[in-house]
Amino acid sequence: MEIYLEYLVMLPGPTNVPERVTRSMFTHMINHRSKDFVKLYVDTIEKSQKIFDTTSDVVALSASGTGAVEASVVNMVKKGDKVIIPVNGEFSSRLSTMLEWAGANVIRLTTPFGQNATFDQVKEAFDNNKDVKAFYVVWNETSTGTMVKYLDKIKDLTARNDSFYVVDGVSILGGEEFHMDKWGVDVCVTGAQKALAAPPGISPIAVSQKAKKHMIANPPPTFYFNMARYFKYYDDTKETPFTPAIPLLYAYREALDIILEEGIENRIRRHRVCSDALYSGLSTMGLSPFAKEDARSTVVIALNYLQGLDDKTFRGTLSEKFRVLVAGGFGELKGKVFRVGCMGEVHKYHVMRTISAIASTLDMMGYKTNPDAIKVAEDKLRAL
Ligand code: PLP
Repeated sequence: MEIYLEYLVMLPGPTNVPERVTRSMFTHMINHRSKDFVKLYVDTIEKSQKIFDTTSDVVALSASGTGAVEASVVNMVKKGDKVIIPVNGEFSSRLSTMLEWAGANVIRLTTPFGQNATFDQVKEAFDNNKDVKAFYVVWNETSTGTMVKYLDKIKDLTARNDSFYVVDGVSILGGEEFHMDKWGVDVCVTGAQKALAAPPGISPIAVSQKAKKHMIANPPPTFYFNMARYFKYYDDTKETPFTPAIPLLYAYREALDIILEEGIENRIRRHRVCSDALYSGLSTMGLSPFAKEDARSTVVIALNYLQGLDDKTFRGTLSEKFRVLVAGGFGELKGKVFRVGCMGEVHKYHVMRTISAIASTLDMMGYKTNPDAIKVAEDKLRAL
């Protein structure tokens, strides 16, 4: 039997996009040098500031998340700068390489995948490197389903020698608690296609006043990701220096409206309840989470494959027979785990459909699963 349902996009990005957001893109084109654009862009930036919880500058880059991450590196790091970064997965490893390419002297706090460096290990690294210029951290390591839970404590360390604090929040901002100003974060980047539930292509970067001054005084030898240009255009005319992805900005703004209507606190609670239901339901079914319990992410759930379970067949069946999309592992974890996104538009329906589709797929592949999984997840979802 063929089914023609839309996909349920339980990927760790891109994610399900509300109909309202998709529709907002289907409109006439406007001039990006016009009052119409200024109205759209200023509104978008002001709403983005609420998500970052900052009064500082936010630039909505027309780029994927990697573009914003690269901008956070090339505009901040000078040759020889000492930078501390915890490395525990593909994205933090990639970011540490980018820092090296930018000429930084990179101090990696490497921990096994599925675990985080502890706050004490980070503190020790600061104690041993008094000349550190910046601390970079991938808040949510999407490749392993771990999330750092002490972002609020780093300020005490960076304040000691006035070093910069940079957060890659690509796969989590909008789904978990974040207070840029209160937590003393200098730069935070994110991606529209993850917990913000907009289409891919817009990647906002928030920059503190201190970091903005530093970026203007130290422009990178790049053209497109030269942040000083973006600041100048915004400060002078409220425009962007280059042609922005206008339809995607409409979509991103609509997604921000939806977030603000729901309320950020309600949204965070919803993500926590849904991830709890996914972890509990899938564990009851017989699947074990990859990440250590104290490091587990509330927006990406990585699960170990059962003995002999083939990644391609499992995800292929889930997609073809049940129209549910989940991601495989990559890098070191290829074929060993699969990852379920719990981001943005995730409600009871998404959780229950995902759990029952996974159970049925495993059943079709000859694995016996515990039927209590459904009930366990349902019970958790009652908290919503
Ligand atoms: N950083 C993190 C933590 C991510 O999860 C991702 C993508 O999944 C990126 C950076 C790169 O984003 P993009 O694929 O949009 O370039």
